[in-house]
Amino acid sequence: MPVLVKNNNYIIEITGMTHDGQGVGRINGLAVFVDGALEGEEAEIKIIKINKSYAVGKLINVIKPSSDRATPFCNAYKRCGGCSLQHMDYKAQLAFKTKLVRENLERIGGLSGVTVHDTIGMTVPMNYRNKAQFPVAAVNGRVVTGFYAPRSHDVIESEECGIQDVISDRIRKLVGRFIAEKGIPAYDEKTGKGLIRHIVTRVGFNTGEVMVVLVINGSSLPYADELVGILAQTGGSGDSKEGTGDGAGCGRDDGVGAECSVKSIYLNINTKNTNVILGDTNVLLYGSEAITDMIGKYKFKISPHSFFQVNPVQTEVLYELSLKYAGLNGTETVFDLYCGIGTISLFLSDKAARVIGVEVVEAAINDARENAKNNGVTNTEFYVGEAEKVVPELYDRGMRADVVVLDPPRKGCDESLLQLLADMQPDRIVYVSCNPSTLARDLKFLAGHGFNVIEAQPVDMFPWTGHVESCVLITRD
Ligand code: SAH
Repeated sequence: MPVLVKNNNYIIEITGMTHDGQGVGRINGLAVFVDGALEGEEAEIKIIKINKSYAVGKLINVIKPSSDRATPFCNAYKRCGGCSLQHMDYKAQLAFKTKLVRENLERIGGLSGVTVHDTIGMTVPMNYRNKAQFPVAAVNGRVVTGFYAPRSHDVIESEECGIQDVISDRIRKLVGRFIAEKGIPAYDEKTGKGLIRHIVTRVGFNTGEVMVVLVINGSSLPYADELVGILAQTGGSGDSKEGTGDGAGCGRDDGVGAECSVKSIYLNINTKNTNVILGDTNVLLYGSEAITDMIGKYKFKISPHSFFQVNPVQTEVLYELSLKYAGLNGTETVFDLYCGIGTISLFLSDKAARVIGVEVVEAAINDARENAKNNGVTNTEFYVGEAEKVVPELYDRGMRADVVVLDPPRKGCDESLLQLLADMQPDRIVYVSCNPSTLARDLKFLAGHGFNVIEAQPVDMFPWTGHVESCVLITRD
């Protein structure tokens, strides 16, 4: 057995994958994590970090490739911190995600008999994102717009990003060219000087409405009128060869997506030395204050700060599934906990008697109320606050849910909330999760408190990344 030495090369068998898609093997019993390596492969690696409990290897050469290995479609793949699974065939990614959910339910959740369905993927898993946030920087005196390198803030020029809508790259390039021509300085994180920080785009996939937000370190943008004139002419028309996503977005050559055009342009003022992309102040330069998009038959208002799911095609799949699992007949009271801007609440509203949404971000609740009003929905109510605080208050006031939808952030639910659900005894819980390990932990609690975990359906919301979303049906004993 070789002794592990930093900067030395070793041959390793990759025997497993981590939850975020790194390959794992062992040298001298020590786990070695290798980005870009797949289970079943033999690879030459260079050890770049050694800790007590693990080491990190850099992939030098794949000696025996896995049959799941694919050629990344993006030429910036190795330098970009965005997608991490482009070296894996899409079908294999879906199988990997299914397996991850199943293993978490078994290992962490202690749940062995639960049906985990095959992950629902996208027909064409490209150009699926409706929101792009491109950093802008000067590199050797040249304006660069693109993406951050992995685990760093070095900005790397991107040609085009295959997971963003095509209009987003078009806008990025236009703005990049414009500021280079006019000599408008890019922001420099190290000195805090310079003006343009980020180019943010939001696209209504089903309406074709596009918003551009230029994030600046100052209060005004030179030549703003000229830039607005150019951007306002920008759109996509079906003539694009790049766009191939299934049924959405701008400029698709499959003829399904909407014709798109820029409907709203903002300056966003961010003069703080921070990693947070948007500052608090938005100045409307052109067009409407908000754009609209549809999920199913419901329309949603999108402003620079509003939260909106980034893969609208798969979001609809996920919400349809939640609706199916909720099994509503029109008489139920539903609690939609962690409701964001109320998208799931609205989606369930016409099949339930009453839907009560709870969310900690006040601005999201304001949007939820407005979205309900704009859709003529009158049987929803929204409350601001932590679910674990608000739900006990509602319970004390005598409110009971027949069906509860949970869609918590990565850390999962507070145990006190799960305990309250055990006391309240809803007929069904639909758990929508973006993190299989906290999902499994929470399901273990529910399974130990009178609930049956029936089935889990993973949905691929973020193709080419390690993220796994799943929807789980839970009923009462
Ligand atoms: N259901 C929504 C949003 C899910 S994301 C949708 O489908 O779009 C998770 C949401 O939980 C976020 O909006 C976040 O702000 C909110 N959140 C985080 N912690 C919370 C808590 N303790 N109580 C209520 N909401 C919380």
